[in-house]
Amino acid sequence: MSSPVIGVLGLQGDVEEHLVMLARLKVDARRVKTAHELADVDGLIIPGGESTTVGAMLNRFGLTKPLLERVGNSMPVWGTCMGMIVMAEHVVDSEQPTLGILHIDVTRNAFGRQVESAEVPLTIAGLGGKPFPGVFIRAPWIERARDNAKIMASLDGKGVMVRQGNLLGTSFHPELTDDPRIHKLFLDLVERARPALAAR
Ligand code: GLN
Repeated sequence: MSSPVIGVLGLQGDVEEHLVMLARLKVDARRVKTAHELADVDGLIIPGGESTTVGAMLNRFGLTKPLLERVGNSMPVWGTCMGMIVMAEHVVDSEQPTLGILHIDVTRNAFGRQVESAEVPLTIAGLGGKPFPGVFIRAPWIERARDNAKIMASLDGKGVMVRQGNLLGTSFHPELTDDPRIHKLFLDLVERARPALAAR
């Protein structure tokens, strides 16, 4: 099999920072804006940005249905900050459209002043080595995780990282750090999901 291709949803937000990190890891990465481009990637990152805008744009660009289909065929998806909100089943006190694929309830802009924009060392389940530098920018937290969605890191007693099979969500922004460990973890999910995805 050739090497995997990672897409970064390029409708709005910090797309470029993910592409730079993936280039550093020598991964074939590209911006995805259309259903056609989506069909060519083995995994998708939904970056940070503004969740109400991107939730609506996914529908307008005709991306919601093909994206849900790819996820149903076990394509890995990782949402950072806004991306995790867009993936969530439920956003507390909001009717905004989401993909509803991650079995979590999130609260937007949830951390108070002290963590509104901060770097906090995080202990992440299964990630070896030193604590991960968690960069938080008007970040959501995870109120509840259901079914097979498992919290992998917490801050102030609230979930800030979740994994559900091939789906990953982080409240924080690994693409704004020098630490590639979570990008590598996602890449690993993509590598392992490829045979199943290719068989569809
Ligand atoms: N506050 C944004 C939202 O709710 C998310 C912020 C971010 O992605 N850095 O959509």
